[in-house]
Amino acid sequence: MDIQDLDSGDEIAQIRENVRKLCEAFTPEYWRKLDDERAYPSEFVKKLTDAGYLSVLIPQEYGGSGLPLSAAAAILEEVQKSGANGAACHAQMYIMGALLRHGNEAQKHKYLPSIASGELRLQAFGVTEPTSGTDTSSIRTFARREGDHYLVSGQKVWTSRAEHSDLMLLLARTTPKEAVQKKTDGISVFIVDMREALKAGMSIRPIRTMMNHSTTEVFFNEVRVPAENLIGEEGRGFRYILSGMNAERILIAAECVGDAKWFLKKASDYASERVVFGRPIGRNQGIQFPIARAYAQMRAAELMVREAAKRFEAGLDCGEQANMAKMLAAEASWAAAEACVQTHGGFGFAQEYDVERKFRETRLYQVAPISTNLILSYLSEHVLGMPRSY
Ligand SMILES: Cc1cc2nc3c(=O)[nH]c(=O)nc-3n(C[C@H](O)[C@H](O)[C@H](O)COP(=O)(O)OP(=O)(O)OC[C@H]3O[C@@H](n4cnc5c(N)ncnc54)[C@H](O)[C@@H]3O)c2cc1C
Repeated sequence: MDIQDLDSGDEIAQIRENVRKLCEAFTPEYWRKLDDERAYPSEFVKKLTDAGYLSVLIPQEYGGSGLPLSAAAAILEEVQKSGANGAACHAQMYIMGALLRHGNEAQKHKYLPSIASGELRLQAFGVTEPTSGTDTSSIRTFARREGDHYLVSGQKVWTSRAEHSDLMLLLARTTPKEAVQKKTDGISVFIVDMREALKAGMSIRPIRTMMNHSTTEVFFNEVRVPAENLIGEEGRGFRYILSGMNAERILIAAECVGDAKWFLKKASDYASERVVFGRPIGRNQGIQFPIARAYAQMRAAELMVREAAKRFEAGLDCGEQANMAKMLAAEASWAAAEACVQTHGGFGFAQEYDVERKFRETRLYQVAPISTNLILSYLSEHVLGMPRSY
């Protein structure tokens, strides 16, 4: 049983079709082997890059295709729906937003065309630190200005894809928290050329996780970053990354919708085929209903993703919708994953069915890039006007 796409126009339907074809070449065996070895899907990422899918949000003048966010969302949804894992490269689509919106012309000309062509990879986003966690204003990584450069010292954690990226978008304090009036002031964003930094003070340590995610810890010891790599004004970096977070949430939500569709197809097909007690297990409502419920959750989340993308593209405030889309889609993909495992019984745990792999992969999205609690807290405070909790 194929899950139909909601109508979104011919251009996006064509993009979906092309992404589907590209993903078909990457079989479940390909993903299983990488998962086993915790290896990076270089070949898959190269195909997506060469086909221009990772640069759809880069404007044409900088070598991208300048498509709207809904096209990027459709690409990532299709990737996940095919059983692939877009986490290996999704960040390249949205990290460059900070550079695009707040970088100067020289920076944009220096980096964006090479990112669009695939010559440079901007896959790493260094925000989270071990001691600050969700409280980004408490980051301790510090960039100290010395003449025409900054010296960066500190540590990031969960910096995904750092080993597979040439550039990192780094968030660091340039004024201590105690010396600023507003705690989110005094934080700056830099483009770090990791190829140079690795030769002089930066080191990367992989973190093995329950799924194949290429995530790492990154240590900075007096790493020299040219002052010209500062994005926008010193001390205003927190605002710059906040402005990109709605795009990130909408795109991750689209991935969750794709995951949910993969699980729902897998579960409903299996329920129809698997015969126990002389009849398909899917005849039992105890099997049907969790799948049907997850389907309804997925469709509702999908509509919220569309609403958020529509507002984003129209330049309207979309914080509420982007956050809700991310939360609802992550919950829908988890509900679908749970129903899929249950429907498969013991086989849900067998590697060769791929259910257990996708189950592990989709669980992440209730924690990262923002956890469900923090979304609920945003809605409580900023939408419903209740008192701030932290
Ligand atoms: C696989 C993976 C990849 C990641 N990739 C990146 C990346 O590329 N770059 C990057 O910068 N970060 C990345 N992250 C980090 C991710 O964004 C954080 O893990 C996430 O924001 C939560 O931070 P934390 O793990 O420190 O949890 P904590 O901040 O320690 O929170 C722990 C729990 O407490 C809850 N909590 C905290 N404060 C409150 C509160 N006030 N009210 C209610 N609940 C609260 C949280 O919701 C969470 O469930 C990644 C994480 C993982 C696991």
